[in-house]
Amino acid sequence: MLFVSTRGKTDLVSSAHAITRGLAADGGLFVPQHFPKMRMSDIKAMENKPYTERAIDILCQFLTDYSEDELRECVQQAYAAEKFGGEPVPLVKVNDNTAVLELWHGPTSAFKDMALQLLPHLLTRAIAKTGEKNKVIILVATSGDTGKAALEGFADVEDTEIIVFYPSEGVSDIQKQQMITQTGKNVRVFGIEGNFDDAQKGVKEIFSDKSLADELAQQGYVFSSANSINWGRLVPQIVYYFSAYADAVKNGYITLGQPVNFVVPTGNFGNILAGYYAKIMGLPVERLLCASNSNNVLTDFINTGIYDRRREFYKTISPSMDILISSNLERLLYNITENNAEKVTEYMTSLNNEGNYKIDSEDLKKIQSQFFGAWVDELETKEAIGRIYNDYKYLMDTHTAVAWRTLEKYRLLTSDEMFSIILSTASPYKFSDSVLEALDDRSSVGKEPFALLHELNERTGVPIPVKMIELEKMTAIHNDVIAAADMKNTIKANLL
Ligand SMILES: *Cc1c(COP(=O)(O)O)cnc(C)c1O
Repeated sequence: MLFVSTRGKTDLVSSAHAITRGLAADGGLFVPQHFPKMRMSDIKAMENKPYTERAIDILCQFLTDYSEDELRECVQQAYAAEKFGGEPVPLVKVNDNTAVLELWHGPTSAFKDMALQLLPHLLTRAIAKTGEKNKVIILVATSGDTGKAALEGFADVEDTEIIVFYPSEGVSDIQKQQMITQTGKNVRVFGIEGNFDDAQKGVKEIFSDKSLADELAQQGYVFSSANSINWGRLVPQIVYYFSAYADAVKNGYITLGQPVNFVVPTGNFGNILAGYYAKIMGLPVERLLCASNSNNVLTDFINTGIYDRRREFYKTISPSMDILISSNLERLLYNITENNAEKVTEYMTSLNNEGNYKIDSEDLKKIQSQFFGAWVDELETKEAIGRIYNDYKYLMDTHTAVAWRTLEKYRLLTSDEMFSIILSTASPYKFSDSVLEALDDRSSVGKEPFALLHELNERTGVPIPVKMIELEKMTAIHNDVIAAADMKNTIKANLL
């Protein structure tokens, strides 16, 4: 299996190359040359396999330059019981035709662990395979969840360094505490005076700075990305769609072959794209429901075929979906246009230069036949958390609630009552303030973050993730806050 760029201007590369480089040299994203098909009997066989073996079934189709034993080592370390509590992705049935796939049982209580626990293992082996002699520096700009998940994944991984930049006033108290207490001898974390866009812009500039790259190469370093544009982050996400389906069959919620809907709280379009890939590979998926918050650029795109980032940016209670440019959409466009790299390049150039693009009507029809898009405001989000808890004693975080409400809107509009699986992307404890407000309609403003954890626990009896309790007693190690303009110099000072 080889990989091509969505912009069509680079040679075919191996998966190890795609994973080490992150982004293709022509600015495009790496995509597999073709999609392997899974048979219904393959899916049936997954029913009695543990998650790690299900993962190997999928990964070995795409990562053909890794041996099965190598992949087994990778997944067993990534999804070990000490990290995921034994059952990495439980499927919880909430009512007759709705189940929730909990993707947040990893070390940072967000779904990004599913990919970022595995990526370091794939990457270190990829480095060896490609003959890369330099030490890899993972550079991350984060709005909260990615930073911690990447730190947790890369801490003390041989031959890597990880440097994380976060907006010092732009992440939640818990997220900040998670990052500044991170241990590991290859780990550095810096607050930025500015917002997430400033941090992201700084990282992008550093990535494209040729003279800095040369200087670092002389010292034996090369940059790589743990961002969700990296193929090594996408491929582990295909697995849990198959796994959820196999569990739904195994538990008798559906019969083998019966189609289901998946509902995905969406930001950068990585998670839902993995579901689309699973569908291409033969998983019986009816529709993929793309759930957005007030930053509804994707809802508009799915409804009109126009992607327009020139709009107001809202800070919401589901912050991991506060995004105006969904990078992985480029990969969907590549598939939908039947690998038309020229068209994709045109769209992306227009997005960059004019801030918008419009796809052809046939392409839009194809998207609409497989996707549904809706958005949910803050009030609706909180209302859903409170109501679902009251009705079913099921506690959701804000992102999951956006997905729940999206499914309700879809059902109202289409009368499709098919069995549907909601992807739950964060533990409710990661957003205790909003969740408590949703349950009891009172303000948590000004309350101490760890007091809120205990309050939510007393209110619901839902256990607090162990790692989050431990956080309270950990000491802050990374206290530096720097100007956004100093990111490059900070890297030099720390590495050269
Ligand atoms: C990252 C994230 C998302 C968005 O996922 P994408 O793959 O970027 O679409 C949703 N919810 C949570 C909690 C996240 O951390």
